Amino acid sequence: MTEINVDLEESKEEKQVLTPEEMAGIERAQKMGAEANEASAFKVPTEFVPLPSFGLVYSPNSPLHNLKEIEVRYMTAADEDILTSRSLLRSGKAIDAVLKNCILDARINPEELLSGDKNALITFLRVSGYGPEYKVEIDCPSCEETSKYEFDLSQLEMKTLDVEPIEQGENRFHIQLPTGTHIEFKFLNSAEEKEISDAQDRIKRSTNSPVDRNVTTRLKNTIISIDGNTDSSLINQYVDTLNVRDSRALRKYMEDNTPDIDMKQEFNCPHCGHRGEVDVPISVGFFWPDE
Ligand SMILES: [Zn+2]
Repeated sequence: MTEINVDLEESKEEKQVLTPEEMAGIERAQKMGAEANEASAFKVPTEFVPLPSFGLVYSPNSPLHNLKEIEVRYMTAADEDILTSRSLLRSGKAIDAVLKNCILDARINPEELLSGDKNALITFLRVSGYGPEYKVEIDCPSCEETSKYEFDLSQLEMKTLDVEPIEQGENRFHIQLPTGTHIEFKFLNSAEEKEISDAQDRIKRSTNSPVDRNVTTRLKNTIISIDGNTDSSLINQYVDTLNVRDSRALRKYMEDNTPDIDMKQEFNCPHCGHRGEVDVPISVGFFWPDE
């Protein structure tokens, strides 16, 4: 899964730039958040949220280094104001702004978090703020009928990082592919995920092509070296000509080992009775349960 984010339909066409008023709005909200954190009279409860990566991928210079859990305070009305500001949402900054408020260690930059670690924090804030019930429209994989289905977000499980990085405190992992090639890759952080999704939007718009370059774009950004060679033009060429067998093995390994929240949950179609696991879709209702 990629990152939990609100993808408002209109956001694709709009500039992802904030006006000075919107910037001031974020700063105000963050100042209020910081003050709320310090004001002892109204102490907002906090909790330690486990990180799927155990902090193993962050460098020793980062406050996230070897951090197994992050202390987070519950969302407040001020955070909700951020979440309900459509202009902040359109800019894609609302969730980061709320995270920045709710993470107690002010040195932690939400953009630095691996997407999976960030998803764990976002899911915690959603469940602690609005409860675990999540009603969302979903297309049945069997009969293709759309229905509104209620998932229980408290049942989502964490996929922890079970492979060792090549070096401690480095986001660098190794796999040997079926044809023998040695690959080093990393797991993407939040800022990188955003760059990729913006790049994909640009490609789609400029080429008008129905081909989704999702897989190749992601691989090009994830692979660090091929048989020890780190040259980026070589990596790009390699990905474009990668054989299907290696490509599948690589993607499966990454998918199986990416630290994240596992969004799979049981779905029981009210139209055809189909039962099976689906990926819980993230829609606007993730943050506005009443809409
Ligand atoms: Zn069905």
